[in-house]
Amino acid sequence: MALWENNVRKVVPYVPGEQPKVKDIIKLNTNENPYGPSKKVLDKAMELERLKLYPDPAATDLVDTIAKYHGLKSNQVFVGVGSDNVLAMAFMTFFNSDKKLLFPDITYSFYDVWAELFGIPYEQIPVDQDFKLRAEDYYVENGGIIFPNPNAPTGIAEPLSFVEDIVKNNQDVIVIVDEAYVDFGGETALPLIDKYDNLLVVRTFSKSRSMAGLRIGYAMGNEKLIKYLNDVKYSYNSYTMNMPSIILGKESILDDEYFKDTVAKVIDTREWFKEEIEKLGFSCPPSAANFLFITHNSLEAKYIFEKAKENKIFVRFFDKPRINNHLRVTIGTREEMEVFLEFLKKLV
Ligand SMILES: *Cc1c(COP(=O)(O)O)cnc(C)c1O
Repeated sequence: MALWENNVRKVVPYVPGEQPKVKDIIKLNTNENPYGPSKKVLDKAMELERLKLYPDPAATDLVDTIAKYHGLKSNQVFVGVGSDNVLAMAFMTFFNSDKKLLFPDITYSFYDVWAELFGIPYEQIPVDQDFKLRAEDYYVENGGIIFPNPNAPTGIAEPLSFVEDIVKNNQDVIVIVDEAYVDFGGETALPLIDKYDNLLVVRTFSKSRSMAGLRIGYAMGNEKLIKYLNDVKYSYNSYTMNMPSIILGKESILDDEYFKDTVAKVIDTREWFKEEIEKLGFSCPPSAANFLFITHNSLEAKYIFEKAKENKIFVRFFDKPRINNHLRVTIGTREEMEVFLEFLKKLV
């Protein structure tokens, strides 16, 4: 090993779900929304002649639109390049304690990667046998807390009172609630941000808004938290948001009817699909997200995963302790789920 390698920051990177290059597949492995952005967004994409200019570093138009949509002031909103970027910025900004950052053992698998990358001490708190978080587990000394609600990859949502208990019992640290899937049936912690200055709520356009390709995420919280986030952002890269994201993101927020319509379709399909697969010997926790976390009473998850892939149906398998007999199945269109259901019927 060359000596310079001693001074390299070595990390084990996060591994995103596969984006297969082959055509004609059914893609249920990375929680995208199958319906695509609204026509108004696509029409607006034709008007991007201003690309020669630098974008507004403050992304003011998008920030103002998001703030208005949620009934907030613009200084309570921070935007970034997907919520992954927003979350990474938040880890860098808020988790600088010597005490441990707490998050569940079964959760979004980027949290431990960022903790390692930024040298943040952390502890993964086991969820119970039904994959549920226990609020009391987080009433211990810590350097910060983060969890998704609904949780991923389980889809389980906790009520607002549960989130408030955790925030209330941890007012000396920042608590981040990652609401990537909240639009599919979760209860948002947004009403608490005026009451608790230590709460940051993070959202994304990638799932419910069907715009994963554009990379837009945002955080909402007390104006002081947002200022600290912006200070770090401007010390790192002022032009994080590109111009198409600012323009098209705004357009997506304005077309609320289309948004609500596609989200309702996904929820309908989820509930129908859940009922159907339960008849086949599958079970899964109640989901408030756009995916189901399924397990079968006799067939192994890995076997189903591989067989599905042979049939050009992609779902997500995590080769990790506690969850390696489960599959995370994104809810596609009704037609896609019918094909997957037929496949499962034959397999079972
Ligand atoms: C998908 C996801 C994200 C990241 O979404 P972006 O595409 O980066 O906005 C963050 N948290 C959770 C829990 C997710 O599932």
